[in-house]
Amino acid sequence: MITNQKDLRGGNPLWIKSPHSTVRARTTLSQEQCDVVVVGAGVSGALTALMLTEKGFDVVVVDRRKPTTGSTAASTAMIQFELDTPITELSEKIGAKNARRAYQRSLRAVDDLKDFITRHKIKAEWRDRDALYLAGNEMGFRALQTEAKERQKAKLPSTYIDRELLLKTYGIDRTGAIVSQGAAELNPTQLTAGALRAAQRAGCRIYQDYEVTKVESDKAGVCLTTSHGGTIHAKRVVFATGYETVKGLPTGKFDITSSWAIATNPIAPQKLWPTRCLIWEASDPYLYMRTTADNRILIGGEDSGLTDPDRRDAAIPAKSEKLLRAAKALLPNLELEVAYAWAGAFAVSPTGLPIITELDGRKNQFAILGCGGNGITFSMIAAQLASSWAQGKRDPDMDLFKDAGK
Ligand SMILES: Cc1cc2nc3c(=O)[nH]c(=O)nc-3n(C[C@H](O)[C@H](O)[C@H](O)COP(=O)(O)OP(=O)(O)OC[C@H]3O[C@@H](n4cnc5c(N)ncnc54)[C@H](O)[C@@H]3O)c2cc1C
Repeated sequence: MITNQKDLRGGNPLWIKSPHSTVRARTTLSQEQCDVVVVGAGVSGALTALMLTEKGFDVVVVDRRKPTTGSTAASTAMIQFELDTPITELSEKIGAKNARRAYQRSLRAVDDLKDFITRHKIKAEWRDRDALYLAGNEMGFRALQTEAKERQKAKLPSTYIDRELLLKTYGIDRTGAIVSQGAAELNPTQLTAGALRAAQRAGCRIYQDYEVTKVESDKAGVCLTTSHGGTIHAKRVVFATGYETVKGLPTGKFDITSSWAIATNPIAPQKLWPTRCLIWEASDPYLYMRTTADNRILIGGEDSGLTDPDRRDAAIPAKSEKLLRAAKALLPNLELEVAYAWAGAFAVSPTGLPIITELDGRKNQFAILGCGGNGITFSMIAAQLASSWAQGKRDPDMDLFKDAGK
């Protein structure tokens, strides 16, 4: 095995049975040859494979599960440029200039993702949304005012609003909030399956139930051995293996965290909050919410360092109850009932930034690691960086994603 195998999720995620979330993948692999092989058929692998195919590369995707059924199926898919690490804190960690660049790149990635989905006619329930970041126990209203000023200096579409305006506009009683434009919500399994199917139409071959167990460099590039003996010869390999990180990489930088989520029964749309913005808060443990195309509310958070999958999954009922209570406290006029509840693992780096880079000492090998709570926005950046790398071009932001900060 070349990846550390993890139990990525448990419970009953909303998206598993979404229509248009499956991909007809091949189940027999003996010999393959291609320009780029992408290991992993989650959202990172899917966007990367489609972007590479679009650039004219002959691409193979291989996954040890069925496509879309890893962490991506557990995602709550709030699409934001706002990183889990506030810009004020990120500036302390990587310098103000780099923090601004990371945020600006992230802002662009959300736009680029929308264009990409539109260009490839992928139906993924994309809805443009504002995002509301509420003051909480980690950042009170003064800290949010400073955060908003820093964001404005970085030319980000964020504005501070005070308690009165927050209550008047959204009916939420907190000491203050930041409202940002440029966010969205979507269906993550539809996005992934849609991207993989678009890549397939352009010639990409997708294999499921094959685990990559060995990667060796050879004269032509790389040779991958899989669990049932099939081999793939390629000029290059991109590891998009999610939180099952590649062995031998600097994984010590990432902490695995568990997160829980629930989806309510559909609610009459007129009862939902104004603008249906994404809502999240500067608290620990924190709460976040969004709506879905069929008018459910997705509520997530309660993150903890509990990594044992059995204990994580056993905690689903208690965590669901807590999430529901916290949501009701925020939106007391809504009657909420849990229809789906699940848990998932994700990796957090010291800066909140992922590692997206060519591997030191491993020729022709590129990895996408530790995408954290902003994983889908980072998946778009990863696809762009991997595509530049495969073309032999230098992405100007490559350095930002090299080591997740010192
Ligand atoms: C509960 C939860 C909520 C989240 N909410 C959000 C959110 O609101 N917004 C957001 O942007 N992000 C969110 N994320 C993060 C985001 O969903 C993930 O970062 C993203 O889905 C990861 O996609 P991936 O393709 O990297 O990984 P995965 O979907 O896990 O795909 C990786 C694939 O690689 C395969 N693989 C691994 N090793 C091998 C091997 N050796 N051989 C073959 N195949 C292999 C696996 O089988 C898997 O299918 C959330 C995550 C969780 C868990």
